Amino acid sequence: MGAQEVREGFVRLYGAEPEGVWAAPGRVNLIGEHTDYNDGFVMPFALPHIAVAAVARRTDGVLRLHSADLDSGVAELRLDDLAPGSDGNWTAYPAGVVWALREAGHQVTGADIHLSSTVPSGAGLSSSAALEVVVALALNDLYDLGLQGWQLARLCQRAENVYVGAPTGIMDQTASACCEEGHALFLDTRDLSQKQIPLDLAAEGLRLLVVDTQVTHAHSGGEYGKRRAGCEKGAALLGVDALRDIAYADLDAALARLGDEEEVRRLVRHVVTEDQRVEQVVALLESGADSRAVGPVLTAGHASLRDDFRVSCPELDLVVDTALAHGALGARMTGGGFGGSAIVLAEAADVETLTKAVGEAFAAAGYKAPRVFEAVPAAGARRLS
Ligand code: ADP
Ligand code: MG
Repeated sequence: MGAQEVREGFVRLYGAEPEGVWAAPGRVNLIGEHTDYNDGFVMPFALPHIAVAAVARRTDGVLRLHSADLDSGVAELRLDDLAPGSDGNWTAYPAGVVWALREAGHQVTGADIHLSSTVPSGAGLSSSAALEVVVALALNDLYDLGLQGWQLARLCQRAENVYVGAPTGIMDQTASACCEEGHALFLDTRDLSQKQIPLDLAAEGLRLLVVDTQVTHAHSGGEYGKRRAGCEKGAALLGVDALRDIAYADLDAALARLGDEEEVRRLVRHVVTEDQRVEQVVALLESGADSRAVGPVLTAGHASLRDDFRVSCPELDLVVDTALAHGALGARMTGGGFGGSAIVLAEAADVETLTKAVGEAFAAAGYKAPRVFEAVPAAGARRLS
């Protein structure tokens, strides 16, 4: 849905013009999975899929929220009533952002918000972060808060962690807030230092496909929390603040120190090797070498997520195995896992055969047809009008 449509929707709903229209994208993560809550490295880029919000300020302490994509009508909340854990609906994401801004001492006196999003929900492409960041950016502009992208990302993460109650890392919100068109974002999640890495795969005759399996396994939330707790246990046993502090060169020694803590050993091995893979991909892309060399690194990342971190699922493994069997240069699950999406790096000439093969494999397995689209690095959050 475009800026004009969302603006018109706002007028129909609230009977006045909005003060502006903003957009924030979903993201796909090229490499660096389950590293962001270990202070490690990630490398997402923004998708052309966006959440668009038309917003106007209010002065009476009321927040009105409406999503054009749901049938739930306008939610009306009082700012003074906003409390973590009080809202189990979609409104918790935007309301959580308002709560986090106010908690941080920013003067926000109310808002009317109408939004719509083309980011597929629950597909591991961060529809939730897009929703949070678009609201945060709009309020930052309208209330003249002067916050930078990374600061908005921190507040949005707090909204999701504390207000919504989802213990996610900082990658999604930072990607949505800070990505740039034509680039992947190399992000150090410890201090949020960033580097924009040019990524133009098409110039090399390559394509990056996103395959949305359209499944979400019910236990994803609880398992995410368990992995996170396991990583924290690993860091504590090894006497470091976060697993990011274990250098790749010291991995074997660290694993030996973990003795018979087999589960923790697997988690540690994934995180430390995954950080190394991010650095490898950055080095490859920056060296100007053939980007085909990135493929095997992606595939190695998948094996680590599947075998060591154990967050893949049969549908994701089927995408990866089928793609590789039909000429893909590399493939891996992306996002938290247990469903959601996979990415596939392929020669442009192989895309058609490969897409067909994945569809057929899904049909043969009795799975719902996957949704496949090409991903090109798009712009981060911005004002549209
Ligand atoms: P992901 O971020 O991977 O898409 P999440 O579970 O983190 O998955 O976020 C999905 C949730 O975000 C949905 O359940 C819904 O509450 C909210 N959401 C996403 N898109 C919209 C939308 N267009 N309108 C209202 N709520 C949305
Ligand atoms: Mg999310």
